[in-house]
Amino acid sequence: MSRLFDRTPGPARVSRLARVANSSPIKAARGVRDILPAERAAFVAVERAARDRARRFGYQEVELPIVEPVELIERGVGGDTDVARKELYRLEPHGDSDGEPASRLVLRPEATASMVRAYFQGGLNQGPQPVRLFTIGPLFRHDKPQHLRYRQFIQFDVEVIGDPSPAYDVEVIEMTWRWLEELGIEHVSLELNSIGDGNCRPQYLRALQDYYRPLKDRLHGDCQRRVEDNPLRLFDCKEPQCEALKASAPRITDHLCEACAVAFEEVKAMLDAAGLEYRVNPYLVRGLDYYTRTVFEYQHAALGGAQNSLGGGGRYDRLASDLGYPDTPGVGFAGGVDRVAHMLQHEVGTVTPPPAADVLVLTMGDGLDRAAAHVGRICREVASTAVDYSARSLRAKMRAADKSGARWAAIMNADEAARRVVQLRNLVTGDQREVAWDELAEGLA
Ligand code: AMP
Repeated sequence: MSRLFDRTPGPARVSRLARVANSSPIKAARGVRDILPAERAAFVAVERAARDRARRFGYQEVELPIVEPVELIERGVGGDTDVARKELYRLEPHGDSDGEPASRLVLRPEATASMVRAYFQGGLNQGPQPVRLFTIGPLFRHDKPQHLRYRQFIQFDVEVIGDPSPAYDVEVIEMTWRWLEELGIEHVSLELNSIGDGNCRPQYLRALQDYYRPLKDRLHGDCQRRVEDNPLRLFDCKEPQCEALKASAPRITDHLCEACAVAFEEVKAMLDAAGLEYRVNPYLVRGLDYYTRTVFEYQHAALGGAQNSLGGGGRYDRLASDLGYPDTPGVGFAGGVDRVAHMLQHEVGTVTPPPAADVLVLTMGDGLDRAAAHVGRICREVASTAVDYSARSLRAKMRAADKSGARWAAIMNADEAARRVVQLRNLVTGDQREVAWDELAEGLA
């Protein structure tokens, strides 16, 4: 600091200093947030339960890049989806230093297309099938920020790739259902639908267009376009004028071909056998184009409004070929970790953030840092321990210790440090006794 002000400021320095002085403190970008310790505890619980549950069902964890080629997303989720049209974070093209042409990259808005890409690129398609995978990580969508809708959020993503059996659809549903159940989240409704396949969906879409064309004027702007471009997306719309027209629209479940109908019956029968309650919702289509046959979603009324979905998924038998790989069936699920963590904290109320440390080492007087560090090291053998090296009075340190939620304070002055003892105070009961450093492990038990 002194050097900066000792010198006579030149014009560039003056303007820089003026800018620094005038600028307001830098905040996080709109729609993204910090998960601070008080909230992070709920995320940890949700992610731990997800990992446990996935492993218990034989799924293996993978880590995938958050940057992907734009084509993967556009060809995966579909160019006409909101995710691809409006919500993609596109990075500036970067050429590589070895002269490779600039590639168009995006921050991934979902994980399924990446997972299918990784399955082929990593040769997992060569081994025993199907392959059960999961990942937990951040996604990015440039949507309008609102309560529980963020521009960066975390998903628990589960995929079974390489087998068309509807039994895997049910396995994914059961596993993710048990995840929510284990966390104690109740009153979740499982919405279920089949949206057919390449065989029966085209005819159904024509029936849908025949129904909507005469009503086009009554739809809102985006939906008017969807009648021709992507009629299934009409069911995603939450605008009241569009909602009202859904009820009389033809239902996909009445238009399924034999194979899709049989698969849907099997899914329902297996869900019944597993004791999982569901509601067939013929308007559930989910926002991404790659789904075929089974789609499902977990909804919770307590979340309210358009953000009531905790997670969802479905079968995507065409996705691999859309990405340029051999035709390969798959089914998966994406759960919103932010929303499930919110439920845990605010509805279930089971998560209280643990204290930063169970033991605090406090000293009285100067020159005791090394002794305090040593006592800290001993205590850490059996408990989480933080050392207070501040120059505050013991009183102030004790006040902070009481507030911290720690269970023990190990207090020491110069005389006690010389005798290699501490006053070990139980902050819950207020009991205090002298304990030798060598006996701290037993004292803290
Ligand atoms: P989707 O990939 O759109 O099917 O979303 C799956 C789940 O991710 C949703 O049910 C939400 O729980 C969560 N999710 C999706 N978008 C957001 C967002 N913008 N902010 C927070 N959570 C989200």
